[in-house]
Amino acid sequence: MQTYADYLKDTYGFEGSGVLTDFLSRRDERLLLGETVDLAALAQQYGAPLEVSFCPLITQQVQRMLDYATLAQHSSGYQGEFVYAYATKANFSEEVVRTALKAGAHYETSAAADVVIAHHLWRQGVLSAERYIFCNGSKERAYIDGILALRHAGYERVVAVLDDLDELDTLLAECHEPLLFGVRERHDPAVVDRDHAGGERFGMTQAEITQATQRIAGTQHQLIVYHAMVGSQIEDAAKWAARLERSARNYARLAAVTPSLTLFNFGGGMPTSGYELGFKFDYAGFLTSLMHNVAQVCAEQGIAQPAIVAECGRYTVANHNVYLIEVGTTKQAGALEQWYLLNGSLMVSAPDTLIVDQEFVILPLSGWDAALEWVRLGGRRTCDSDDLYPRPHRPALALPRFQPGMVLAVFGVGAYQAMIGGRGGAHHCLNPEMRRVIIEQDGDQLVLREVLPQGLQAMMTALGYNREVLEPVRQPVRQPLPVHASVERMPLPARPLRGSRRRQPAPTLRGSLRATRAYAAGRA
Ligand SMILES: *Cc1c(COP(=O)(O)O)cnc(C)c1O
Repeated sequence: MQTYADYLKDTYGFEGSGVLTDFLSRRDERLLLGETVDLAALAQQYGAPLEVSFCPLITQQVQRMLDYATLAQHSSGYQGEFVYAYATKANFSEEVVRTALKAGAHYETSAAADVVIAHHLWRQGVLSAERYIFCNGSKERAYIDGILALRHAGYERVVAVLDDLDELDTLLAECHEPLLFGVRERHDPAVVDRDHAGGERFGMTQAEITQATQRIAGTQHQLIVYHAMVGSQIEDAAKWAARLERSARNYARLAAVTPSLTLFNFGGGMPTSGYELGFKFDYAGFLTSLMHNVAQVCAEQGIAQPAIVAECGRYTVANHNVYLIEVGTTKQAGALEQWYLLNGSLMVSAPDTLIVDQEFVILPLSGWDAALEWVRLGGRRTCDSDDLYPRPHRPALALPRFQPGMVLAVFGVGAYQAMIGGRGGAHHCLNPEMRRVIIEQDGDQLVLREVLPQGLQAMMTALGYNREVLEPVRQPVRQPLPVHASVERMPLPARPLRGSRRRQPAPTLRGSLRATRAYAAGRA
């Protein structure tokens, strides 16, 4: 009999204990997020479905990338700075943005409301005026107004990255203070380049960029950023670096005649390790070849090496969120496969499974010694035939034989999923939003906050029903529902040495969560 543990060993060489990926390990038969959060303990305490947000992983991602950049600067001899910006559209949640900024990230906006958030965080002292705010995307009136409001309020490092010439004309006419500009490169639409998905709709052609440069020249404003984005989740480092080398040439030509131009921004694309267990990407190697190439084209033009800007969305936040979802029941699905029906819905909670056929890492919290099964996951809380994973053209998912109470962990869901699915409101088949546990680090403490699952009243209100709609519901719905059910503080568990083979007591939240458990019991 092949067990699930055998399967993982044969496929990924994982022996059952130790580091699984750069954000997940298994020790004493328990899965630990960031070497700290015992997922089974949380499932036991709070029940499933449960969304676990572990913010220290965001800090870790930013710090790691800054370290990779330092390594790359050393090995390539690159003189320019490295600027890490968080692309907030991956996850706008307050604790997420705050954590990324605290870790040192600059800010990248994609929408009018996004500038409103940045403005607010600046006023709150969370976003320092030293940081850049790169405003990308096509800009309607409200977006332009948001940028103007921020600049007129005194924020100097807001950069309007132009998507077309009309934006420029409006900003030139209406901005009373010196404003920083960027130009976003658009691949010539006459020449279709299938490698450059980001170039087909966004930004400006070289001819338009020249015009923009001329219109800005001689005003009080400055062009400082050249933006060249290739795509998202790019895993072919060599191809990516080659594509950016072409853009760097365009940068260097323009910078040679535009002395204010000093930042080369390669946008998004930095891949996350969250979608695949065997994921490998040489981050430092990619940055080294990028810096090497940029240095070379700058030398050819006889110009200084620019600061290199990365706008990381997915990379920053994908790993910090995990869903814990129970398998409610099973059904035979043909001779070789089983249906595992989830007490939840991946269609609602991880919509990219359908929209872009995204794969996620899904692991059982227990039962690794049980026999291997090939499985399709179906959402039990929708009756939509598309609510299944993996998609029919993909191989089935390996999981252990079903045991009652089986809980699956869905990893890598911290980027885009909650934003696309939406927070609040009514969802497909009225699938309620799951309970959340948000864990943040505050000095040497971990702070855990519980957010109650979405109640019927919230859904009904969103749909326009009045309170009487809930009259037939036996259990009285307490109103108003508190947003935060509990907040607990606990000492930060000591971390084990990364990759250490030595057996040691699991450094988990298990013990320290007792206080919260008592609190939860009191509440029930
Ligand atoms: C979406 C976006 C990003 C972030 O992309 P990821 O691949 O998630 O890192 C960065 N820059 C711009 C301009 C974007 O539109």
